[in-house]
Amino acid sequence: MVIVKTTYKFRAYPSQVHKSMLNHQMHLSKQLYNLLLEKSQEHFKDYGKAFTKFDMNKWITQLKRKSPEFKELHSQVCQNVADRVSNGYKQFFRRIKERETGKKVRAGFPRFKSFVSSLTFPQEGGFVIGKKKVRLSKIGNINFVNHRDIEGIPKTCAIKKTKTDEWYLTISTEKDDIVPFTNGKGAVGMDLGIKKYAVLSDGSVLHNTHMSVKERSKLKRLQRVISRRKKGSRKRRKAVIAFARKYEHISKIKDDRLHKLSHRLVNSYSFIAYEGLEIANMMGNHRLARNIGEESWGKFTDYLRYKAESAGCAVVSVDPRNTSKTCSDCGNIQYISLSERTFACNKCGMSKDRDLNASVNILNRATSGQGGSNASGDNARPLAREAVVKERGTIIGDSR
Ligand SMILES: [Zn+2]
Repeated sequence: MVIVKTTYKFRAYPSQVHKSMLNHQMHLSKQLYNLLLEKSQEHFKDYGKAFTKFDMNKWITQLKRKSPEFKELHSQVCQNVADRVSNGYKQFFRRIKERETGKKVRAGFPRFKSFVSSLTFPQEGGFVIGKKKVRLSKIGNINFVNHRDIEGIPKTCAIKKTKTDEWYLTISTEKDDIVPFTNGKGAVGMDLGIKKYAVLSDGSVLHNTHMSVKERSKLKRLQRVISRRKKGSRKRRKAVIAFARKYEHISKIKDDRLHKLSHRLVNSYSFIAYEGLEIANMMGNHRLARNIGEESWGKFTDYLRYKAESAGCAVVSVDPRNTSKTCSDCGNIQYISLSERTFACNKCGMSKDRDLNASVNILNRATSGQGGSNASGDNARPLAREAVVKERGTIIGDSR
């Protein structure tokens, strides 16, 4: 289980009446902020320690009794202001500590605010989100442009004014999910290989991002030139440079392809599972294949991971044991030699391309426990059409 947090931003259109209420409340929060800060400073001077959130809340209650205008602020808004002051103080104490350890930092007190341009309701109850309106306690219903469905349970709601008097709502939600399908697209398992770069559980095949035979033989030729030259000679140095240039050039092209490929993938799927490969193991003694595969797959999965988040995609690795020896339909484990291209199950009779079978197993493994979901079921809506990358034959077709 993971908790998926999402933040939504919507343009809001408060009425003139609401605007003046909001402006007034922002003004009050600014005053409250500065009062709390002043109080905290005094407390620090007198006692040498922080004015805690608990102290603050007690003090706010007294303040409301003394100055009733602060009652206009919703208790949650007050609480949020207190949180901010308290966090400002924590930072202050952190800086003091750093200075004690000899770091050169300025440990000035948190600053007073000359204006506040947002109000935050940190809990449910202080706000209620409707279809086109949000109800803010002690303010009222405010229209907003709901251009995106809000998923999950709203946790906080903030309204903010820009310098040009535009208003925005920021709503953050939380949702329990087993698999965070955040960009609303499908899930796939991915089997990495040598001949086919990767086979996805929806049948898509990614081709040819390893070094090509032509590229490889060019490099080999340049390497042979080096070994023919006498050590320390000028000609040898030249040959070394030529080799390095070529190598660099090929690496750049490969890198570029991997970037594009990973970019397409995280934008085509919301969930990608791959084998956490002990790659060297998998490749056995096939030295050349290993060198090629290892470097490229490592980079590829790194790129996937770091591009995933902003694309609303989750990338996970799973235990690679027996992914190619297991029947993706019935779970039967049986021996299959490296040369066999088709997995034919002895138990249930299923027959599937070897790599496709493995990729379905990888997805099953990553999503197991998800209400009996099955990688070849609805959860893995084939997205082969969407995933087709037309560029330079990098990908994909439906190999089923
Ligand atoms: Zn089977």
